[in-house]
Amino acid sequence: MDYSDKIAHQVAAIPRSGIRDFFDLVQGRDDVISLGVGEPDFATPWSIREAAIFSLERGQTSYTSNLGLLQLRESITNYVSDFFKVDYDASTEVIVTVGVSEAIDLALRALLNPGDEVIYHEPCYVSYSPSISMAYGVGVPVQTHKADAFALHPAELEKAITPRSRVLMLNFPTNPTGAVMSADELAEIAKICVKHDLIVLSDEIYSELRYDTDEHVSIASMPGMRERTILLHGFSKAFAMTGFRLGYACAPAPLIDAMMKIHQYAMLCAPITSQAAAIEALENGLPAMEKMRESYHQRRDFLVRRLNEMGIDCHLPGGAFYVFPDISKFGLSSMEFAMKLLEAEDVAAVPGTAFGDGGDGFLRCCYATSFEELRTAMDRLERFIKTL
Ligand code: PLP
Repeated sequence: MDYSDKIAHQVAAIPRSGIRDFFDLVQGRDDVISLGVGEPDFATPWSIREAAIFSLERGQTSYTSNLGLLQLRESITNYVSDFFKVDYDASTEVIVTVGVSEAIDLALRALLNPGDEVIYHEPCYVSYSPSISMAYGVGVPVQTHKADAFALHPAELEKAITPRSRVLMLNFPTNPTGAVMSADELAEIAKICVKHDLIVLSDEIYSELRYDTDEHVSIASMPGMRERTILLHGFSKAFAMTGFRLGYACAPAPLIDAMMKIHQYAMLCAPITSQAAAIEALENGLPAMEKMRESYHQRRDFLVRRLNEMGIDCHLPGGAFYVFPDISKFGLSSMEFAMKLLEAEDVAAVPGTAFGDGGDGFLRCCYATSFEELRTAMDRLERFIKTL
């Protein structure tokens, strides 16, 4: 059967993920050191796993409320109030989702009419552009630059705004650049959002993983922003819970209600076992999270130092667990560089172009891998660039 005319146009038009293409080549090769997958190398802290086991032992195997367990939503609002400095009502202003991934999809589908424009900063997480297209929106990337430490420049944002602009997607700390924005920089962005009446989808999944400032500043906490921000957060990264598939969105009730309309039919609810684990993560998991953060901090410093010492220009990323070195001086595209590095030295790093055209000339290296592997990978990279 020819399926080409059976697939919806907006789905057929989605290109394959650049990361997936690259990692298909690496599959099954134990000799390769991978700096590729954006996933913690820690097992989920034991007390969190135990909470999942206890929940199963108690026979908690049912659906939950569509919005998620009230106890979890209460833990979330307490945590968000402490950490993001924004207060939400646990009954009406929080929805628990299957990862931040589902929350992004729900929010975009809830907000967009066909043809509405969504501005996002690039290089960015690979799901943004396809998620916008699948919600019948039009993605408008705004490039960020190494010279600005990959922060979103207010003037460039303002230039991208048209009468069809409806949503601004933000992700600080950023995957893949590790960029963070200061309170002053975010305040400028916030003013523009208020002026142009934009809704902000703020994906703050890496917010605990920042290394040079004590406090994470959420755009939702800025004047005039709580009412126009959907704050997205989850458990995958800071709590090393990727496989639990749990995230959440906090926003004014009418926005949560619109997301809920889709979620209740598409998903019913997030898995109860993961929700039980997430309560434990928020109530007692912070010391374990802090230990992981400290370890990422050391690895970031090590990697940035080694890259710069060997003559590869790498800015110091303020957060997440990625470095984004500039390899443009070697005269190869990101894809060529990554392929040759893989062939010659069995080191896999993601070509910057997987995160948008503006990523050309860069590589994304995830440092959520052991020190020993990072050291070997850097030795091999150093040997490799001498051959170019
Ligand atoms: N947002 C960003 C910026 C990410 O990097 C990722 C995963 O890598 C996600 C969202 C998806 O997270 P989750 O596991 O909560 O679906």
